[in-house]
Amino acid sequence: MDEMVKMAVDDLGNAVNVAALTGAGISVESGIPPFRGKGGLWEKIDPMEFAHIDTFMRDPVKVWNVLLKDMKEIISKAKPNAAHLGLVKLEKMNKLKTIITQNVDGLHQMAGNTDVIEFHGNFAWQKCMKCGNRLETCKVDLSLIPPKCQCGGIFRPDCVFFGEMIPPDYLERSQKAAERCDVMLVIGTSAVVHPASCMPVIAKENGAKIIEINPERTPLTGRVSDYLVRGNAGEIMSNILSGMGTK
Ligand code: NAD
Ligand code: ZN
Repeated sequence: MDEMVKMAVDDLGNAVNVAALTGAGISVESGIPPFRGKGGLWEKIDPMEFAHIDTFMRDPVKVWNVLLKDMKEIISKAKPNAAHLGLVKLEKMNKLKTIITQNVDGLHQMAGNTDVIEFHGNFAWQKCMKCGNRLETCKVDLSLIPPKCQCGGIFRPDCVFFGEMIPPDYLERSQKAAERCDVMLVIGTSAVVHPASCMPVIAKENGAKIIEINPERTPLTGRVSDYLVRGNAGEIMSNILSGMGTK
């Protein structure tokens, strides 16, 4: 067994309260491209521009055409992969208590985890900017861009755009989960989007071990994380779980 995988197997075996912080990388093997890293959207567009609330307010047609239309298409087809399913197994073993995810794809819930904090909201719902009416994304008619509510207002995804606040209760619950865990798994996040990237720091300050799973190094590597298990999330999680004696 790979030495890093073995370390993770041991640390998770000894843990009683595991938290996970996940990012776009955990859903790459489900066919959803990340923002940064290889094959990321960044190679084509600048998400800091297109996923910024100021851009949406200025030009919703552009943001719907360049980013949101494709996201609807891709996310609606995606299914959980071995990494999401591995986190379900860790919960069933009574190890994993909470997932803090930056993703908006809903795959952790679809996989079956029960305590998932969606730090950046969820793409499954749209909200009318005029009357506040909510509609499931799958029911939104995209034949006219931007999609509009019956009242004439424009629909926006119920996600947190860059430039918007994280809902305070999500932030508080995430901080608590970070404070009380004894191991934090940091999976598939470039750890550059604040304040999500502070969660491993909070966990570490409270004595937790921080295990990163990522094919690439991040700003946390060698500083905040105790070690990096290098590779794709699905494959690494499968190896860790089989090392822990589950299939
Ligand atoms: P990011 O796009 O900034 O970084 C992705 C990270 O995943 C990189 O560190 C990359 O090395 C790693 N990665 C790539 N392939 C991987 C794999 N197979 N297994 C494990 N790791 C892999 O992602 P972020 O840190 O989550 O920040 C981006 C923001 O964009 C988030 O806030 C999120 O809301 C949003 N976003 C969400 C989705 C989604 O819901 N699936 C997709 C793209 C962006
Ligand atoms: Zn409306």
